Amino acid sequence: MSTDCLFCKIAAGDIPATIHYEDERLIVLEDINPQAPVHLLLVPREHIPTTLDLTSEDNDLVGHIFQVAGKIARELGFADSGFRIVNNCNEAGGQTVWHLHFHLLGQRQLAWPPG
Ligand code: AMP
Ligand code: ZN
Repeated sequence: MSTDCLFCKIAAGDIPATIHYEDERLIVLEDINPQAPVHLLLVPREHIPTTLDLTSEDNDLVGHIFQVAGKIARELGFADSGFRIVNNCNEAGGQTVWHLHFHLLGQRQLAWPPG
């Protein structure tokens, strides 16, 4: 846990958030500034700053996150129509919270390329 990290504080229950799903390895919360009808953030409980900090020890964790994302997409009914999983890395990638997370965007037609 990083004491000045927003997502560590949310995972610890110290800052309120709307939690959609949680287990021993991750939390899934609603984004406070949604960019689609469904905009969830999949956040590992462990404080990993960026995708560049992942190691082979995290392979199971990342696989688990993607499986949870797919399960949620099916449960919410937009798996077949389509959705997007996004990871923003560092400033030019658009990262604003330095705790690894994946955006799950669904329930609208998404444009490509992204901005
Ligand atoms: P990124 O820009 O990829 O680092 O994503 C960070 C995301 O966190 C943004 O989409 C923000 O809208 C979202 N966010 C920031 N603060 C909160 C919060 N307190 N609760 C939920 N989502 C947040
Ligand atoms: Zn953190």
